[in-house]
Amino acid sequence: MESLWDQSCANSLNGDLLLERVYTSRLLGQETDLVLHGGGNTSVKAEIKNFFGDLEEVLYIKGSGWDLSTIESAGFAPVRLTVLQRLAELTSLSDSEMVREQRAAMLDPYAPNPSVEAILHAIIPYRFVDHTHADAVVTLTNNSEGLARVKEVYGEQVLIIPYVMPGFILAREIRNLTKDVDWHKYQGMILMNHGIFSFADDAKTAYERMIYLVTLAEEYLVKQNAVQFAEATGQTDLLTLSKIRQAVSQVKGTAMIAQLDQRAEAVGFANLPNISNIATRGPVTPDHVIRTKPIPVIFPSDQQADVTQAVNQYAENYHQYFLRNNPGDLKELDLSPRWGIWPGYGTLSFDQTLSSAQIITDIIEHTLRAIQMGEKLGGWQALSEKDLFDMEYWELEQAKLGKSANTPELRGKIAVVTGAASGIGKACVEVLAKQGAVVVGLDMNPAISEIFNKPGLVGIQANILDEKAIQEAIALTVQKFGGLDILVSNAGIFPASETIENLSQDTWEKSLNVNLSSQRSLLQSAIPFLKQGIDPTIIFIGSRNVLAPGPGAAAYSVAKAGLTQLARVAALELAADGIRVNTIHPDCVYDTGIWTADILASRAERYGLTVDEYKSRNLLKQPVTSQEVAQMVAAMAGKLFGKTTGCQLPIDGGNERVI
Ligand code: ZN
Repeated sequence: MESLWDQSCANSLNGDLLLERVYTSRLLGQETDLVLHGGGNTSVKAEIKNFFGDLEEVLYIKGSGWDLSTIESAGFAPVRLTVLQRLAELTSLSDSEMVREQRAAMLDPYAPNPSVEAILHAIIPYRFVDHTHADAVVTLTNNSEGLARVKEVYGEQVLIIPYVMPGFILAREIRNLTKDVDWHKYQGMILMNHGIFSFADDAKTAYERMIYLVTLAEEYLVKQNAVQFAEATGQTDLLTLSKIRQAVSQVKGTAMIAQLDQRAEAVGFANLPNISNIATRGPVTPDHVIRTKPIPVIFPSDQQADVTQAVNQYAENYHQYFLRNNPGDLKELDLSPRWGIWPGYGTLSFDQTLSSAQIITDIIEHTLRAIQMGEKLGGWQALSEKDLFDMEYWELEQAKLGKSANTPELRGKIAVVTGAASGIGKACVEVLAKQGAVVVGLDMNPAISEIFNKPGLVGIQANILDEKAIQEAIALTVQKFGGLDILVSNAGIFPASETIENLSQDTWEKSLNVNLSSQRSLLQSAIPFLKQGIDPTIIFIGSRNVLAPGPGAAAYSVAKAGLTQLARVAALELAADGIRVNTIHPDCVYDTGIWTADILASRAERYGLTVDEYKSRNLLKQPVTSQEVAQMVAAMAGKLFGKTTGCQLPIDGGNERVI
């Protein structure tokens, strides 16, 4: 591992200790082989002036919720050093007491909660203390001969601490173990099955000691020929993937994203002949357990096997694990797995948001390497079940249960919207995403891939008339997110006004093809996946013309009436699978692309109205916005309409002819 230290960058910090702390914390955070997503912590001891101008010694320690790769000065909590040192002398301190006392000792009440390792950092007699969960180091220790190997690699350069649960008891343990130790003989400290500390009185030395010590472990692994990872190519079975996601979501009780990792290493790992043994021995470092649970669900390699059964069995096993380890008064977490091994296909991560599923995917990427290296060293051996349980159910995590902030209603849901580049379709994508869904927007306009291009929001160019392109877009949705729950059929055209007498074959056919026939193939592509969705729903954007047609709009009104009938039949056919099908009939929506200023002016003139009068031609005298239609679509996708199917709902400001 290379040092990323840049002297000119460091010089620009003018010797400011906190800025130097920020700088090397970010250097550590950039290296995913050292820390992942909020893992690890760093500190610096400094004298600062309090409000009254008196100097006080504080420990600036990483605040919880901050990530080393992006941390700023505000991410470090200034805690009075003497208080932390006194806390270390106690014989017992509960985690909630520790959090309270640490907060009470902060010089800035608005700073984040200090890391749970603050007391440990405080008792290490060096100015800069760096802590990571370096893959190479934990791999060495997660081994049947871990202790011997650590000694072999490091000799007398480091202190070696047996595994103790992080937090106060770890700090107390280390304080006791090091009472008569001369810290200055050591460059760092290895915590068995957990990670590594390095320390020094300046930022550069502490950081470079970390790099040096981790490099020793990496070089050792290379020398032992341990750095070899299986690779393979994954198969595709999207229906089974969505079945897996449905089963996991049902156990969890809410919609989950399923992220399938088919990189060569993920598939190679899943295909290992002893995978169900080695993948279930526990995680790389204990704090992963909060995100991944102790073990993954292992799906059978037999393609005919029942994946739902595997998830249900996992849930039962997890419940037994809880009963075995619960000392009596703990609240059981949900029973669903957070990751899975799918032989032949790859690895899977499950969580309620794409970003947290991605974090799990990143953790798995490092875990599967560590496990294979551990096996090459004579046998991967993680912490005991009891230790993992204590971590997963520790007081601070339990305290968070039931306190989650308002979750957006459609979190974990997967949606597809057609005609998504502008107008109502675009608004639907935005509102569904805002309410927590991941959304794929389809449109024939190539700009769609630019309009929606960020994690959880994807634009795909596809012409609704191109059956194959639509099929592929639906398949890509399932491949990316694990399933499909919400289909919003919005794509359509509004042909120029022609009376029946003069209606051209072209106008007629085009309207019927786009507004009606294409919907059949869209449904046919989506239904098999919707059947395995979570509270699945189809929402058609119809038109006021269905119930109150206008002269000159035969091609449009007939197609939209056919679409409405298609939706009604779909509601009848799909109710048994729990799929709700409803139609929204908007009118007076003028903020879409087709309503240019010129068209509006000419229409208004034809009716002898001003543009404003024309736009409010309804009983409530108010135009309807795309946004308002989209909000109705999102409501229809949610619980409010959970018992409604086969309905037609106007959003038109009130129309006498419809009423
Ligand atoms: Zn740690």
